[in-house]
Amino acid sequence: MPRVKPKVELLRHTPDPEELIAMAAKLCYSSADIDDLREGIESKDQSKFLKRLMDMGHASPIEHASYTFAISGVSRSFLAQVTRHRLASFSVQSQRYVGQKREEGEFAYILPPAIEALGEEAVLKYHAQMQQMQAWYNEWVTALGDAGEKSNEDARFVLPNAAETRMLMTMNTRELLHFLGLRSCNRAQWEIREVAWQMLEQLREVSPVIFANAGPGCLRGACPEGSKSCGRVKEVRERSEEIDRRIREKQNG
Ligand SMILES: Cc1cc2nc3c(=O)[nH]c(=O)nc-3n(C[C@H](O)[C@H](O)[C@H](O)COP(=O)(O)OP(=O)(O)OC[C@H]3O[C@@H](n4cnc5c(N)ncnc54)[C@H](O)[C@@H]3O)c2cc1C
Repeated sequence: MPRVKPKVELLRHTPDPEELIAMAAKLCYSSADIDDLREGIESKDQSKFLKRLMDMGHASPIEHASYTFAISGVSRSFLAQVTRHRLASFSVQSQRYVGQKREEGEFAYILPPAIEALGEEAVLKYHAQMQQMQAWYNEWVTALGDAGEKSNEDARFVLPNAAETRMLMTMNTRELLHFLGLRSCNRAQWEIREVAWQMLEQLREVSPVIFANAGPGCLRGACPEGSKSCGRVKEVRERSEEIDRRIREKQNG
């Protein structure tokens, strides 16, 4: 059964992102020339300065560092949500160029955990629905002349939001902090939330100071959601601490 789950991999990022951010910030307050600034930054740990910068909310320096993620095992529904983030860059697998016609089996799809939790009968029913959509898709590709992208572009109209997609996504640090604030919150939908937490863990590993307090607002103080709060602040903070524990364990071998 081609059921897939969200998978996130930090592929690339700006080299030495925290040093670069420190340099951008120090340039604002320093009369030193660029070479002296660089030497100063490279010869001394910048953690304390960066912490102060983050507390101050001086945001433009953090825009200089970017991070690129490979995201797969996510639905077209995820795609609709994540691409609302206008300051990110995306490259998404095309349903025109990549046909989904199958002689056997069906397109990869995402099974929502709440449907899975209903039990085996519900899961089989959901799977049968995916098979039905695969059959409709195949029929339309054939009816449209089996002509590659020309057929795929219209046959895909009968594919569901559950169909898997994959993408590369790049965000700068400022956008990431905003994205993680919104999307790792329990108010966000489960799939984008799962991706956001996977991103957060990998970001804390490579840029521990900048992303130390990243995540939902309740990691930094009271829940900002007011009456819409999930009421599970303790659980959320424990999840964040668990991430830090895993990173420490990894780093200590
Ligand atoms: C829990 C939740 C529920 C949601 N429900 C819905 C829904 O029912 N319907 C719906 O349509 N959307 C919904 N959304 C999506 C939401 O409305 C935003 O489109 C999405 O979260 C992107 O946020 P953003 O615009 O802040 O972020 P980005 O596009 O990532 O922008 C980052 C920041 O840049 C600034 N910015 C970017 N573009 C502009 C601009 N053109 N003008 C001024 N400032 C700009 C803003 O400060 C913005 O916050 C939901 C989001 C969440 C988290």
